[in-house]
Amino acid sequence: MYDLLKKLSESFGPSGYEKEVRDVIKNEIKDYVEEIKEDVLGNLIAKVGNGKKKVLVEAHMDEIALMVKHIDDKGFISVVSLGGWDARVLLGQKVVLRNYKNEKIYGVAGSKPVHLMEKNEEKEIKIKDIFIDVGAKDKKEVEKWNIKVGDVLVIDAHLTYLGKSEDLVSGKALDNRIGCAILIDLIKNLPNEFKDNYTFYFVFTTQEELGLKGARTSAFDLDVDCAISVDTSPAGDTPGIEEKIADIKVGKGVVIDVVQAEGYGLVMRREILDKAIDVLEKAKIPYQLEVGSGGVSNAAILYITKKGIPTVGISVATRNLHTPVEVASLKDMELAKKAIIELIKADVCKL
Ligand SMILES: [Zn+2]
Repeated sequence: MYDLLKKLSESFGPSGYEKEVRDVIKNEIKDYVEEIKEDVLGNLIAKVGNGKKKVLVEAHMDEIALMVKHIDDKGFISVVSLGGWDARVLLGQKVVLRNYKNEKIYGVAGSKPVHLMEKNEEKEIKIKDIFIDVGAKDKKEVEKWNIKVGDVLVIDAHLTYLGKSEDLVSGKALDNRIGCAILIDLIKNLPNEFKDNYTFYFVFTTQEELGLKGARTSAFDLDVDCAISVDTSPAGDTPGIEEKIADIKVGKGVVIDVVQAEGYGLVMRREILDKAIDVLEKAKIPYQLEVGSGGVSNAAILYITKKGIPTVGISVATRNLHTPVEVASLKDMELAKKAIIELIKADVCKL
């Protein structure tokens, strides 16, 4: 799983600009699926099997990113956020921009050094205070390098193991390349009998971070009996977070999303939740139940699409979510994959 996740994590995929991630995924799954297509919003939809029961398994491809808003005369670039950044974590990061020729342009997200700051100034940092320095002499040089307003950039970060761990990894965009990696691994290792009993639509969606958009259009076009959405959820197991605020932990098993955003996101139907718990207990798969206070995933859209799709939201607990140093457990990813297989076997969505 590590090599696959590394490839996905280090790919470039801001919301609406997911092509590189999509190409990596296409290449990984093309020999394992019967049909593969891309829809209007760029969602990648792969069909496997010819059975009666129709199951959608979904993960979003996009990552939070930045977009060029303005280039000043000295060649410094102002940006806006594409997705939920905390401006403080952007400061001092290396970034990589793609211009319209798809060339990689490296830069840094600079800020005023602490030496020059007034008291408390560092606490008030906003995205608009951040400037991207690509090392150009002036605006003309920036333009000569084919950088334009509207170009997108992400953090330049690489996936590594932490410490001497063979389980915990850290990098950017684990939200939600983790979900993509789980789906790819599942496609490659689908139990044989599944192909006769089910028709699977594996959907790699776009623009989740900007309002769950790809899930909306892709699910609308498919007629399915069950949806399983795979994403990451904020772990609360680091210093400074009270357990009563977030109690899911990295390395402690697959997360079932009971409700998201205190019910403003997914509200899992009690019957499906009870069945899911029963299935995981019987299969001895460690699991954690999450009642989320903030943040929603595509599950929130899938379950109210058309006449409603019975939906299970599955997550992998991730530390430092929406930062360039997200941390998650490969073991949890394996457990999530196993959980999906068991839930499908047990027809979890059947009411
Ligand atoms: Zn996500």
